[in-house]
Amino acid sequence: MGLMTPEEYKTSLNDGRIVYYKGRKIENVAEDPDLKACVETVAVDYHMSEDPQYKDLALVYDEELGENISRYYYVPKNGEDLLKHLDLIIKATELGDGYIPLAHDIGADAMNAIAITARSLGDAGKVYLERIEKYRKYLQKTDKCVVAGVTDVKGDRHLRPSDPKQAHPDFNLRIVEKRKDGIVLRGAKVHITGAAYCHEFFAIPCRALSGPEDSDYAVAVAVPANAKGIRQIVRPFHGRISVDEFPVGSELRRMHTDSLIIFDDVFVPWDRVFLCGEWQVAATCVYNFALMHRRTGCAYRIPMSEQLLGIAVAIADYNGISGAPHVKEKITEIVIYLETLTALSRSACLDYVMHAGIPVPNPITTNIAKYHFAHNYHKIVEIIQDLAGGLLVTAPTYRDWQNPETHADIEKYLQANPEVSTENRLRMFDLVRRLTAGDLETICLHGEGSPFAERMTILMEAKKIIAKSKKLVEDMAGIKK
Ligand SMILES: Cc1cc2nc3c(=O)[nH]c(=O)nc-3n(C[C@H](O)[C@H](O)[C@H](O)COP(=O)(O)OP(=O)(O)OC[C@H]3O[C@@H](n4cnc5c(N)ncnc54)[C@H](O)[C@@H]3O)c2cc1C
Repeated sequence: MGLMTPEEYKTSLNDGRIVYYKGRKIENVAEDPDLKACVETVAVDYHMSEDPQYKDLALVYDEELGENISRYYYVPKNGEDLLKHLDLIIKATELGDGYIPLAHDIGADAMNAIAITARSLGDAGKVYLERIEKYRKYLQKTDKCVVAGVTDVKGDRHLRPSDPKQAHPDFNLRIVEKRKDGIVLRGAKVHITGAAYCHEFFAIPCRALSGPEDSDYAVAVAVPANAKGIRQIVRPFHGRISVDEFPVGSELRRMHTDSLIIFDDVFVPWDRVFLCGEWQVAATCVYNFALMHRRTGCAYRIPMSEQLLGIAVAIADYNGISGAPHVKEKITEIVIYLETLTALSRSACLDYVMHAGIPVPNPITTNIAKYHFAHNYHKIVEIIQDLAGGLLVTAPTYRDWQNPETHADIEKYLQANPEVSTENRLRMFDLVRRLTAGDLETICLHGEGSPFAERMTILMEAKKIIAKSKKLVEDMAGIKK
């Protein structure tokens, strides 16, 4: 018990979980040639807890336990705590080469959303609140890695989960049986990042529910990844550095992959059930999760955006165009993109609001920050691809560079800025290609919720300011109501 070391984390994954990857059943995810890169990404969090340089940021002393716990599992008290949390994710993502380690953060977002939901139920929520706080203690003591299974496969998006027109009732996770000792769940969650190599996952509703007929879908639980009836199908990992690219010291990039999780009549004991039928508060749960998780998304996007600025500046320099006015303008555009994201994310923490006694980042600012980075991402990528030029896709490969018959031609003709070697220019093209590939575009757009979800929240949260602004101009126009 206590904080987990990176090695303990890796060893603990060999627990009989059922994981399928590229058509095979995986014996031990920590040893799979691809998935081990994802395991290393998570391990960054565990390394930080051990490293004297990052300990203060990564850990908080817990008076009750008399020991250090992960900062993620500590309940924030104010804006300063939210800001530290933001700084922790930024630093962890920097150490993860631009990928958020994910060991505790997404699970903590779900846990806090569940606690807020339980509190919002008043007396009826007391039992859930006790259970979630007991579960929080368990996580604080064991330091386990928990992710969040929110997104259901959903079926037809226009239809309610229980609508008889759905092809079957299992598109959204649902309770199929209530027993003395717990409940039984059936359904599937999709795109769940890190699920194949976490210890446990939360499953919470992914949408508001509109009536008692959907009450079996109002369920929030914590489930071990090796629970009976859980099967995962993992999407391909795209972090392998090919033999055509210049070597960078490791053949695998730190990255994540995502799972389709099948709940095949999974039994969950009562002490791990945090919502069971209260359809009225499914919206509270998903809303608060989305809010905190979007702030998490903004945090890890800051170092990712610094990388975008870095590759833009570097490739412009290596191409010998950094002095051109239009290039300076484009670099300025990326600086504005990054600094807007940073300022909004920090401001969202300091200008926090209280939800059922727990400070949460400002809803409007958080949603604008998330919307800003996703909505403008393609524009930023377009700038980078523009600055890089056609060699981004037509450059000869590392294998051509190594071939004595072609090496000299490549070295002579593909240099640009005389102060930068051809090799470094080609290395940078490899990196630009890796960092602006399609995978990242999709996660930017849809991770933490599609752009429409942010716009909806912004409009909903802005009711007061909209009414105030309208009243202001009505007063100015002498309109009396
Ligand atoms: C790489 C990646 C990692 C992710 N990680 C996680 C994770 O760890 N945990 C997790 O829970 N989720 C995760 N997600 C899921 C993410 O939150 C969802 O992808 C996002 O909410 C969109 O849901 P969807 O993919 O089902 O798309 P859809 O909901 O099918 O959306 C597709 C389009 O349909 C529109 N649409 C959807 N429903 C309606 C409707 N009723 N009426 C009109 N238009 C509609 C949307 O606005 C969007 O334009 C991840 C996603 C990605 C891409």
